[in-house]
Amino acid sequence: MIPAYIALGSNLGHPLSQLRTALASLAALPLTELKSVSSGWRSAAVGPGEQPDYLNAVAMIMTELAPHALLQELQHIEAAQGRERTEHWGPRTLDLDILLYGDRVISTAQLTVPHPRMAERNFVLYPLREISNTNLLPNGMEIDALLRECPANGLEKTALPLRDAHFPENR
Ligand code: AMP
Repeated sequence: MIPAYIALGSNLGHPLSQLRTALASLAALPLTELKSVSSGWRSAAVGPGEQPDYLNAVAMIMTELAPHALLQELQHIEAAQGRERTEHWGPRTLDLDILLYGDRVISTAQLTVPHPRMAERNFVLYPLREISNTNLLPNGMEIDALLRECPANGLEKTALPLRDAHFPENR
């Protein structure tokens, strides 16, 4: 089993429900266990025009799925939750990204791991730090060092109940 960290984000269609449904789908993936889930973090949307706030979180799974198989599964979950991709960086019901897949460094047409934009995204780094059992990323970067360069800028930790009672406790 490989530990993989998945970023979840939503700013449409009741984001809390979107994240809860996505987490249940992650927990139900084949060859996969959902191990821990960060708090939900609220942030202002980046992108064109007026958009609702985002709700973001990071989950840790243990999986035997290969990286590209995992990516496909995540895309199925996104599609099942009606993600519409009308405009780049536009509003979305659900976005799922693979942040880390064990200590693998992957660079293919479909998949780049560690996720190329995680280093500058406060809405990824803050929840990742909550549940990560390592500070050192496979590409040599350190989460704490990245966080020092990454202002919270209005990012807010929420007490929203992302996890159902049956999810295991963090760590
Ligand atoms: P986005 O619009 O940000 O969800 O980007 C989706 C595209 O990014 C997909 O076509 C994936 O093939 C590609 N991609 C590259 N690396 C990753 C990653 N680490 N996690 C998720 N999608 C990725």
